[in-house]
Amino acid sequence: MGQQRLKAGTRLVVATHNKGKLAEMADLLRPFGLDCVSAGSLGVAEPDETGVTFEANAELKARHTAKATGLPSLADDSGMCADGLDGDPGVFTANWAGPKRDFARAMRMVEAALDGSADRRAKFVSVLTIAWPEGDVATFRGEVHGTLVWPPRGNRGFGYDPMFMPEGHTVTFGEMDPALKHTISHRAVAFAKFKAACLA
Ligand code: IMP
Repeated sequence: MGQQRLKAGTRLVVATHNKGKLAEMADLLRPFGLDCVSAGSLGVAEPDETGVTFEANAELKARHTAKATGLPSLADDSGMCADGLDGDPGVFTANWAGPKRDFARAMRMVEAALDGSADRRAKFVSVLTIAWPEGDVATFRGEVHGTLVWPPRGNRGFGYDPMFMPEGHTVTFGEMDPALKHTISHRAVAFAKFKAACLA
């Protein structure tokens, strides 16, 4: 079967409980006239992220939500990979913020782990997976490369944004106008691929 597409008015569940991601996904999806609802608002519990890759976790979340709701479901698994930490925190990016999701603490942990390393290169990765209730899935990956700065700068965006300065820019994602972040981010790159394949 060819790739299914989502037409205006179709109900799509955004399979995330992360408010920052939800807001960004809603912004990206707005022009397409879909009827977007979050998994949280439908009472769907978050599955354990037991995968060891972004792809595995995105698929697990999308499939879980499509099964629970009977609706097409779009999940994002994302994180930050630091070259100086051999790709950590990677799929554990959210965990480094602890149960209270304290990203000031998570950024301090990254800086401490780098321990003066000269290699401050990093990337954000976003993997978007759409799962259809009948069982098909499609997966799209986006990356944005940059540098980790210290101390963190700016209070826009979410998560690790204040310590990530994308290549070709002199401001961090935490300082950047969200409209600009939405055109260059890992999620925007993955979303462009998703859009080409799935949006009418
Ligand atoms: P998960 O995909 O829910 O496992 O969590 C990914 C984590 O990566 C989030 O909690 C954020 O801390 C971080 N992250 C993902 N995308 C971004 C972003 O655009 N900016 C900053 N942090 C991000």
